[in-house]
Amino acid sequence: MDDSTRILEQRLAEALQDNDVLRRELERAEAAARSAQDELRLFAYATSHDLQEPLRSISSYAQLLERQYAGNAEAAEFTTYIVDAVNRMTVLIRDLLTYSRLPKPQKRTVSLTGLVQWAMMSLDAPIREAKARIIYENLPEVQGDESQMVQVLQNLFSNSLKYRSAVPPEIEIVAEEGDDAYTISVRDNGIGIEPRFHEQVFGVFKRLHGREIPGTGIGLAICRKIVEGHEGKIWVESGGAQGSVFKFTLPF
Ligand code: ADP
Repeated sequence: MDDSTRILEQRLAEALQDNDVLRRELERAEAAARSAQDELRLFAYATSHDLQEPLRSISSYAQLLERQYAGNAEAAEFTTYIVDAVNRMTVLIRDLLTYSRLPKPQKRTVSLTGLVQWAMMSLDAPIREAKARIIYENLPEVQGDESQMVQVLQNLFSNSLKYRSAVPPEIEIVAEEGDDAYTISVRDNGIGIEPRFHEQVFGVFKRLHGREIPGTGIGLAICRKIVEGHEGKIWVESGGAQGSVFKFTLPF
């Protein structure tokens, strides 16, 4: 064996060793990230669970006060505010629980048309009330967790109804086939979202609206968590006033 072959062999052995060290470090980092995520999920779950108890007490004492001061207009007004705040907090906690408890998706082949129709059925009353038109045709079969995917569509449709413009809502669902995933778009003709908020709207409790439109600001965070759980991506495209297009990918 000549010198240069020996040096090459030695370098190769060193590189393999380095590779091994790197792989072990990567595995350690991945395990740490997994346990941090589990801890965070547990914390969110425990907190939201524990918060329900004091809320129930506030609610029942407010009702007692209401009875005690029956006939006093000011007391009645104040207790209404308390009950109202408790109700809002209850919905916030319920949504936070849904977010923190999302299980791993149980993927199977499902008809996207079926998922769209299921989501529409659960929003039957608001769809009728808004005189909304939902347009879809020739949608493919996709790989996904049925109930989680319905939840994504439900949240997106419900937002298109809530954040509508002066004209009756029109929601169009289209699926495009890519190399390794479908890209599903939900387009609406609502009030749109300014580009500077496109990332922010997916954050937990992030809202661009006040109490004039009800909501907890967690719907899109749930959508993102579900889509990422399916190894996909979700984003919004909107220039502002012409409505929004929410897009997400679902790998085959
Ligand atoms: P919520 O609707 O409960 O406020 P979301 O997480 O679903 O929470 O949405 C976050 C924010 O993004 C909303 O408060 C709203 O300002 C904006 N938004 C979401 N969907 C739309 C839409 N289709 N058109 C316009 N704005 C939207």
